[in-house]
Amino acid sequence: MHVYKPTNPGKAVITKNEVCTASRKAAGFVRHLEIDISGTDLVGKCVPGQSIGVIPPGVDANGKTHKVRLYSLASPAAGEDGQGHIVSTTVKRTIDEHWDDHSLFLGVASNFLCDARPGDEITVTGPAGKRFVLPENPADHDYVFIATGTGIAPFRGMALELLQADAQSRIALMMGAPYATDLIYDDQFRALATTHENFSYHTALSRQGQEDGKDRMYVQGRIPADIDQLGPLLASERTLIYICGIAGMEIGIFQELTRCLPPDVLAQYLHIDDDTRAGIDEWTRRMIHKQVKPTRRVMMEVYA
Ligand code: NAP
Repeated sequence: MHVYKPTNPGKAVITKNEVCTASRKAAGFVRHLEIDISGTDLVGKCVPGQSIGVIPPGVDANGKTHKVRLYSLASPAAGEDGQGHIVSTTVKRTIDEHWDDHSLFLGVASNFLCDARPGDEITVTGPAGKRFVLPENPADHDYVFIATGTGIAPFRGMALELLQADAQSRIALMMGAPYATDLIYDDQFRALATTHENFSYHTALSRQGQEDGKDRMYVQGRIPADIDQLGPLLASERTLIYICGIAGMEIGIFQELTRCLPPDVLAQYLHIDDDTRAGIDEWTRRMIHKQVKPTRRVMMEVYA
């Protein structure tokens, strides 16, 4: 970790920058960026679940060099090229209004990266993060990956890594997005689901009906909807749950797991006492780690 620090960053080169939502009609602008790190000491040191830092060029409103921004890696440990020379990340343009005068606000780093062209040099740090990675012996486990929005990035890297290694791990990838057009890497995951029996892909759309005719739902809605497939996977003692995306999703996931799983299976992922269980409809995020305690088989990385 931290091969390059903000005080001593490295230089890498953009090699690809393309739209990665299911359609150009998506509500947001999300791009898949590939970065050549072959001239740096990052080679062989970047694994999915970690982030790399990017320092945008120029200075902030106070005349100081911009601070580093972290972006989740979307590539497997072997990189996009199989040699660990090309890593990737998934960037959503931050476009908003200033709350006071309603003028346009453009996120500095996300728009710098989304505007970058192949050949452009960028200033990088990292890698950062050690908790949200695959376990030491990945083939010893099965996986339920649950993402919303750009939280999909680490799971693209992890799924590719597990499937490329030809590990027999079973993987269920659950993805929540506002509309079908917003599903990120959708084509790639659909293709993987058709070519790999051990990989299943479950989408949840929060602002429109589902492909299977069900009403709008958050990603945790797929737990009861697809329990025939997910139930046996969750019952396996090998299974690990990884959650990445928007803050708030994790408590909804814990509620659905509690409603849908038999007590002995649930106990593999959550410790809850009877009083807490009785008040399930009122659970809030603040109860996590206090009354609603995930076990070591649940990994979370959520951001507001
Ligand atoms: P997005 O496209 O807006 O999609 C987010 C989806 O989650 C929407 O369908 C949204 O539904 C839904 N949602 C909202 N509240 C929810 C809840 N309580 N439970 C379940 N689903 C919920 O996503 P985005 O703009 O890319 O944002 C993704 C988030 O992931 C950001 O907060 C980002 O910081 C975080 N992220 C974290 C990491 C990391 O930790 N390493 C990496 C990447 C991204 P509605 O909008 O229809 O309510």
